[in-house]
Amino acid sequence: MKQTAPPKLELRGIRCLYDETVAVDDLDLAVRAGEVVCLLGPSGCGKTTALRVAAGLEPAAAGEVLLDGQVVSSTSVHAPPERRSVGLVFQDYALFPHLTIADNIAFGLERLPAAERAERVERILQRVGLAEYGASYPHELSGGQQQRVALARALAPDPAIVLMDEPFSGLDARLRDRVRDKTLHVLKQSGAACLMVTHDAEEAMYMADRIAVMREGRLIQVGAPDELYCRPADAFVAAFFGEVNHIYSAVSNGAAETPIGNIRAEGFKEGEAVDVVVRPEAITLTPADRSSYGPGYAKVLAARMLGRTSLVHLCTCKTTGEDLHLHARIPGRYLPEEDSIQSVVLDRSQAFVFPVEGAK
Ligand code: ATP
Repeated sequence: MKQTAPPKLELRGIRCLYDETVAVDDLDLAVRAGEVVCLLGPSGCGKTTALRVAAGLEPAAAGEVLLDGQVVSSTSVHAPPERRSVGLVFQDYALFPHLTIADNIAFGLERLPAAERAERVERILQRVGLAEYGASYPHELSGGQQQRVALARALAPDPAIVLMDEPFSGLDARLRDRVRDKTLHVLKQSGAACLMVTHDAEEAMYMADRIAVMREGRLIQVGAPDELYCRPADAFVAAFFGEVNHIYSAVSNGAAETPIGNIRAEGFKEGEAVDVVVRPEAITLTPADRSSYGPGYAKVLAARMLGRTSLVHLCTCKTTGEDLHLHARIPGRYLPEEDSIQSVVLDRSQAFVFPVEGAK
């Protein structure tokens, strides 16, 4: 029988409490060698706590952490962080200000002979594109360069696992794009398993092979970025990946009725109240005659050029008579006149029907 290697990192049934607060609840997650997995969710959902449990910086109240199939955390075992072969990268980089960049990176390599240590530092500095900065001090480097030093320091001992907590959040938007790109390439070259925490869905999609979405301490959905985007488990996951339109409707003959078309609603009862979640990019517009306003058409409230896309604010006539405000995001420049009428075509692969939140 073919043996498959165990995941590099595995969290099984992790529960973590701070007094009465359940920070992480029954979390199962595995990260394989060479894989980048992002823990994604809103502030306070337990991402950092989960990462800290994996690192051995926080004890778990229940569950197990396994590295290479060996239990390193459980209610009876607790291997300290320095015995876990994990590289850590935090939001604030945590570089030693009084050490040069080379010495910062060499810090975790004291067990290697001096020549080998120097060679390893040089190699990793080259890998992160900072070969000429070994003799500099952290304060002489930009934020992006410091982030790369933090990554180099985490990777220098050749860890099997890299844990990163919001590693790019201190960088401005333009620099962040470049540093993210570099970091992804370096991680992929290293072959390490990486678990990264972020609250930014776009960042998770950029970095991750798989994304694990958390909410209130629990895992909601795990999958490849396109799977989560195209087949979200609920309205929360759908909305986390970008602005969405909510159309509250009811199921009739197996479909949710909306003013811009009916959408198949499998597994719902006749008459059941539903939340139809429509991505703004699911809506295509074409100019129409003023007299056509009604189902399948919309009136333009405003249109704004946002760069690569145009955002069109629309008003549609609900069959019940009350107006519905929708956003359409059209590629390129599309700026129809205010009050003009547009024919609406809906890409149903980007429209999802969910139970109304809070409904039984
Ligand atoms: P953020 O993105 O804001 O860092 P997060 O998703 O990483 O949030 P955690 O920092 O893991 O969330 O926090 C999860 C929950 O545990 C929150 O309710 C938080 O207030 C609580 N918490 C975290 N650390 C502590 C602590 N040291 N003492 C008490 N409560 C804590």
